[in-house]
Amino acid sequence: MTTRPVLRFAPSPNGELHLGHALSALVGFDMAERLGGRFLVRIEDIDTTRCREEYVSQIFDDLAWLGITWEEPVLRQSEHFTTYGKAADWLLKLGLLYPCFATRSEISEATETAPTPPALDPDGTPLYPGLHKHLPKEEIAARLSRDEPFALRFHMDRALDALEGITGKRRISFRELDEQGRAETIEMDPADWGDAVIVRKDVPASYHLAVTVDDGRQGVTHVTRGRDLYAATSLHRLLQVILGLPEPIYHHHRLLTDADGHKLSKSAGDTSLRQLREKGMSKLQIRQRVGLPPQNVEGNLS
Ligand code: GLU
Repeated sequence: MTTRPVLRFAPSPNGELHLGHALSALVGFDMAERLGGRFLVRIEDIDTTRCREEYVSQIFDDLAWLGITWEEPVLRQSEHFTTYGKAADWLLKLGLLYPCFATRSEISEATETAPTPPALDPDGTPLYPGLHKHLPKEEIAARLSRDEPFALRFHMDRALDALEGITGKRRISFRELDEQGRAETIEMDPADWGDAVIVRKDVPASYHLAVTVDDGRQGVTHVTRGRDLYAATSLHRLLQVILGLPEPIYHHHRLLTDADGHKLSKSAGDTSLRQLREKGMSKLQIRQRVGLPPQNVEGNLS
């Protein structure tokens, strides 16, 4: 029996969707249609302080207006912290995570006073300077007993040892489809991220952990998303290998930029899908604006 491809659009409801999201959702939906696959929408709302309920319903309105259909029920990450917690417990048991109690300002101070400036991660943030990497057991216990909040960070060297134990290599690879649908094998070094945060201080998950666990358990076969998340794929693949999750194929699509060449942001009012919808734009016009051809499914053009 052949299994149908599974694709997804995974927005965070922390602002209005804009044209960049329309491109992302449509790229995934069109590919699902082409492959005869299933299409899922996943609400990535682990950031419970920034995400808002009104944005969730607006996401569904915007997507329906774009002519997108998806399977129900929709997975909402905020309802699955226990599942992410189990994955984190497993990584802890393997000795691949350690608690970091350091505050943001302690980390930036350590970064600024380091004898040599730390390298930057692919997002341009200085790598974690290792502040709490080697805390004595007693100090960890004391801080825990005082209920000090902590994040859990990847012990990257050990994670790479684990990767090498499983795959025989310390680099990670994945299959990436280009705009023409040609597959290429990409190799990346997860160490580029240093001791990345796998469980945040404020919520019991992180984007990297939740996205990996969910893509795995939802059986996502093709991850389509923007180029801004391309580099993060090394961390996701590393987590997949260690957690024994299946490997999807990736397609990181081009990003839309504003007149100054910056990536569109949620505050970019004039590109908000709600506003464009209320102005009476059609879904065909949206497809044109984001540079996609009219949908080739009969009867689906407005
Ligand atoms: N939730 C992420 C975002 O809104 C996308 C996650 C993904 O597609 O991997 O940027």
